[in-house]
Amino acid sequence: MEINPLKIYQKLLKHFGKQKWWPATTKFEVIIGTILTQRTNWKNVDKAIQRLKEAKKLNILSLATEEKRYIEDLIHPSGFYKQKTERLILLSRYILENYEGGLHSFFKKSIKEMRRELLSLKGIGPETADSILLYSAEKLILPIDAYTLRIFTRIRGNVDNYSQMQRYLMDELPEEIEVYKEFHALIVKLGKVFCKKKPLCHLCPLESTCKNVKKDYQIIRI
Ligand code: SF4
Repeated sequence: MEINPLKIYQKLLKHFGKQKWWPATTKFEVIIGTILTQRTNWKNVDKAIQRLKEAKKLNILSLATEEKRYIEDLIHPSGFYKQKTERLILLSRYILENYEGGLHSFFKKSIKEMRRELLSLKGIGPETADSILLYSAEKLILPIDAYTLRIFTRIRGNVDNYSQMQRYLMDELPEEIEVYKEFHALIVKLGKVFCKKKPLCHLCPLESTCKNVKKDYQIIRI
């Protein structure tokens, strides 16, 4: 029997409640968060964002023009701070030069155009691009992360790549931005709490629907 992602969403929502992603006060802060969160946890990202805010550098103009070493120092707590600084500067300069510094005109573009432009920038891959599109630009596209791949591979019992998994889930879920936002956040929560590398199936809210439950978890360890 095929698993229904909408039912999974409803079960997770009932179990965990709304996650209310993305925790940020501006659309640009969301973008900064999607880059800073690469290969680290949110606690470290939060520290880096606070430091940018206190220094009044959490804006496109500052990040596009400020001295590189100063930004590196500010975002140091997020880890991989040299690469991330380069990515923040590149993206800020791109928006400044191509959209007169305005996210508003950038966000007017279609999903396809925005995604292509984001993916052309160094250090922005599909997951970061799609997170920017969904959480900052509020476009209807679902980011796929390592948790999503792991969980749905276990639940369904077959392995998909990024595009296949994205197509499958987007075909099954209602076309609602708020559902996509919550769904992605709930999957991350499930991956952190229960569906870890060594899953805690006996506690998982999806225990009754998962094909890879309990004793078989050794077969698919992602
Ligand atoms: S039942 Fe186990 S393998 Fe399935 S989603 Fe839950 S934790 Fe993961």
